[in-house]
Amino acid sequence: MTETPATAAKPVLELLIAAPRGFCAGVDRAIRIVELAIEKHGAPVYVRHEIVHNKFVVDTLRAKGAVFVEELDEVPDGAPVVFSAHGVPKSVPANAQARGLDYLDATCPLVSKVHRQAERLVAAGRHIVFIGHEGHPEVIGTFGQVPAGSMTLIEDVADAEAFAPADPNNLAFLTQTTLSVDDTAEVVRTLQRRFPAMQAPRGEDICYATSNRQAAVKAIAGACDAVLVIGAPNSSNSVRLVEVAQREGVRAALIQRAADLDWAFLDGIGTLGITAGASAPELLVRELVDLLATRFDVTEREEETTRETIAFKLPRALEQAA
Ligand code: SF4
Repeated sequence: MTETPATAAKPVLELLIAAPRGFCAGVDRAIRIVELAIEKHGAPVYVRHEIVHNKFVVDTLRAKGAVFVEELDEVPDGAPVVFSAHGVPKSVPANAQARGLDYLDATCPLVSKVHRQAERLVAAGRHIVFIGHEGHPEVIGTFGQVPAGSMTLIEDVADAEAFAPADPNNLAFLTQTTLSVDDTAEVVRTLQRRFPAMQAPRGEDICYATSNRQAAVKAIAGACDAVLVIGAPNSSNSVRLVEVAQREGVRAALIQRAADLDWAFLDGIGTLGITAGASAPELLVRELVDLLATRFDVTEREEETTRETIAFKLPRALEQAA
């Protein structure tokens, strides 16, 4: 895109901003846990893995005194440690306990709910088909709730078609919380066609925040010439938002910060959709709008598809510090 001379009128750009967007209750809680742990114990407080998948959030907490590590053996004896919102295999709190570490678990309660379901299914003798993305921390955490071999990962329809279980009549499925609602429905349909006796979860595993953000971006996509999603490339729910918009036939891209914007992406567009993944703070949306306003005459309109009122309780150990 060519530079707009300071004297010339700026081109008009309508911003259609999806709602809900950005922080969900699980991310909010996880960040609060780290902040309160720093208040309670003083810095440093160790955090195993990125507390949520957002560099801005991680850098902000680091500045307050959080130290991010990959594994527990990097945490010195006696130091407080927080486990990330994505959940951890059972071996992690067990190791922390064995070492006498003062740990806090920031696993989102909706991820913990899936963990408990996995345990119950295995106790009932079922083999679990887990729909999710290999290598994602949530998937690693959920697999770590049950004995090896009692859960099979299915990533897509091709996996669902190829799956050859030992006992097709004794299956149950669960899913990662941050998947594409539409893709998952297709995988589930495939599995149910092949294994009609497969047990479904009691409620939807894809969380309210993931499905609400996907519905919200779908609602604006048709009226937009392009959509920008603010989020990290390793944030599953953010990447899904880009895919949902693209599937609606609109150009869509993921950016972490306003500074990542490729101005050429905006060439020839009149309406730009904006949303943010569940781990991206609203501040980053405002930062993008402010940057756009330096080159465009922007008007903003928010399209709200649903209002979220969910909030999760803090761990008891921090309730007094709150
Ligand atoms: S995206 Fe869903 S599962 Fe993940 S932290 Fe937020 S509410 Fe919890």
